[in-house]
Amino acid sequence: MKELQQKVKDEGVVIAGSVLKVDAFLNHQIDAQLMKKVADHFYEHFKNKGVTKILTIEASGIAPSIMAALAFNVPCLFAKKAVPSTLTEEVYTTDIHSYTKNKTSHVVISQKFLSAEDKVLIIDDFLANGEAALGLYDLVKQAGADCIGIGIVIEKSFQPGADRLKSEGLDVLSLCRIASLEGDKVTLIGEEE
Ligand code: 5GP
Repeated sequence: MKELQQKVKDEGVVIAGSVLKVDAFLNHQIDAQLMKKVADHFYEHFKNKGVTKILTIEASGIAPSIMAALAFNVPCLFAKKAVPSTLTEEVYTTDIHSYTKNKTSHVVISQKFLSAEDKVLIIDDFLANGEAALGLYDLVKQAGADCIGIGIVIEKSFQPGADRLKSEGLDVLSLCRIASLEGDKVTLIGEEE
């Protein structure tokens, strides 16, 4: 997706060699028009798969996911990183390790929002080691639901996440694929020397 790729190159800031800060349009301030176009790309790719639910994880996955939920006309469900006192019903849970925060979160979703009849599209802002997406996939499997694919806004292709998801047989669509952040510079797939 050309516009997203240009934005990543123009406004992304490399931190500590392997983390990209995209606070200007995705992780803090959100470019709603761009998120709508991101969602349209996900819709174009997955529209014939009978999607009944978008699943993501709070917080940064929510912006592209809510736009995708609009495009598919289905609900957007997000996994919570802490169990709120208001969540009194049965839950599905899994542990997700975040390497950017160096922290493992015990994430939950209410069982009442995911069932064996669901066809789930998992969406997240970034794909790095694949922990978040695989954790969400685990929740889908616990519900006996079908995961029809994974939509990623920015994939760091130099990390193993995409290969791990594909080896599970999952259809992964990443709209911007980063080959390297070496030298504090964003090099996209296709731009390598
Ligand atoms: P993974 O679970 O695939 O290792 O990492 C994906 C999750 O970590 C995403 O939900 C995202 O929030 C966060 N993440 C991973 N790498 C980056 C990065 O370079 N920049 C930002 N902003 N978040 C990242």
